Amino acid sequence: MDIKNNIAEITNTLQGSNARLVAVSKTKPNELILEAYNAGQRVFGENKIQEMTDKSEALPKDIEWHMIGHVQRNKVKYMATFVSLIHSVDSWKLLKEVNKQALKNDRVIDCLLQMHIAEEETKFGLSKDELLEILESPELLDLQNIRIIGLMGMATFTEDKGQIRKEFKSLANTYNEVKSTYHADNIEWKELSMGMSGDYDIAIEEGSTLVRVGSSIFGSRNYNN
Ligand SMILES: *Cc1c(COP(=O)(O)O)cnc(C)c1O
Repeated sequence: MDIKNNIAEITNTLQGSNARLVAVSKTKPNELILEAYNAGQRVFGENKIQEMTDKSEALPKDIEWHMIGHVQRNKVKYMATFVSLIHSVDSWKLLKEVNKQALKNDRVIDCLLQMHIAEEETKFGLSKDELLEILESPELLDLQNIRIIGLMGMATFTEDKGQIRKEFKSLANTYNEVKSTYHADNIEWKELSMGMSGDYDIAIEEGSTLVRVGSSIFGSRNYNN
């Protein structure tokens, strides 16, 4: 894999859009992450807290680490010192735990709420009702050490580009609705995380601000994540 070249190509595709690249480095060794770093990439996404923590300790300190995978509440404490954005908050309980650990570290941690937009049963995420329940909760204002800055979603794994576009459109609609409706000092709506290697071009057209791209940069992964 020519990592530098891959990043240049993707960055080129993002030109003229509002989207930034999150380089998804899960399962990849530090040497390859450094190659991307030396090509100018500073934002990396991981889906396991332990792996992200180990990498953050070994790699340059100006890397922005994003958690994109399902989060176990009892592990939030390990990343609370350094994580810069959690894309995958999918419950009120998790939001509260992130707030608690952020408070302990005297930080405010940015979070995205993960929505279920795919047809598959297996993908994590909130329904629209569950999203509104969180945003309308009076207790939200007590959580002064988190900031909710947008939404994340994963489209169905399918060749049907029309289906993928429909799902991204629906996520973008929800994002825009919320943007015009909810205002609080811990809601600052500005990020819409959608698009992966196979569908980031569609996601950009539908308004993504963060594309999470792994295999198109680093090559395919050896085991399934
Ligand atoms: C692995 C992963 C990605 C990147 O997937 P690729 O198809 O390799 O680009 C994006 N988002 C999430 C949530 C992931 O787990």
